[in-house]
Amino acid sequence: MSHRIGPEEAKLREEICVLSASLFNRGYGCGASGNVSVLTEAGMIVSPTGSSMGRLDPERLSLVAPDGTHLAGDRPSKEAFLHLAMYEERPEMRSVVHLHSTHSVALSCLEEIDPEDVLPPITAYYVMRVGRCPLVPYFAPGDRALAEAVRGVARHAHAMLLANHGPVVAGKGLDAAVAAAEELEETAKLYLMLRGEKTRFLTQAQVADLRLRFPS
Ligand SMILES: [Zn+2]
Repeated sequence: MSHRIGPEEAKLREEICVLSASLFNRGYGCGASGNVSVLTEAGMIVSPTGSSMGRLDPERLSLVAPDGTHLAGDRPSKEAFLHLAMYEERPEMRSVVHLHSTHSVALSCLEEIDPEDVLPPITAYYVMRVGRCPLVPYFAPGDRALAEAVRGVARHAHAMLLANHGPVVAGKGLDAAVAAAEELEETAKLYLMLRGEKTRFLTQAQVADLRLRFPS
């Protein structure tokens, strides 16, 4: 279980803790909910089980092999398998953020949402940072069938919403994953604020134009 943390990895671990605390302090997680990971040569660095995003210790973050084996640090989050399923399907992604953020969870409970894409194109930044966000059916915590469901959706989308649970969002780096998770939560909040109002969303032509200007 010995693992020497080099200077580059130490910096990355520090960034995971700073951004996790930032998410926590802005109300994106409460208690021990939410976990952040980054994929490195040595394995996946992920928040430990039972840890608060607000008080992570860089040196105690878990190191996990692609097959889920715990390599070093504290025991990994019980939700580490969600992250591993995403990396397995999308090798270009290097970071995953999973939250139980209030507005996204509220959205995930609505009967009216389209399971193929849970949010309409409200803003350009949502289209650019998240794009499409399918719904993954509900599974009990720890149910390994959830990993299979996440894997199936990850083939087509880097962001997804677990029904009655919360979002899982991947990015090509830590900053991108955090930014996309924030964008999803804020867009869910906007959607709930606009619900019942006569609303102009972006048109299909505007969305197509954004995809041409800012290919992901
Ligand atoms: Zn969760």
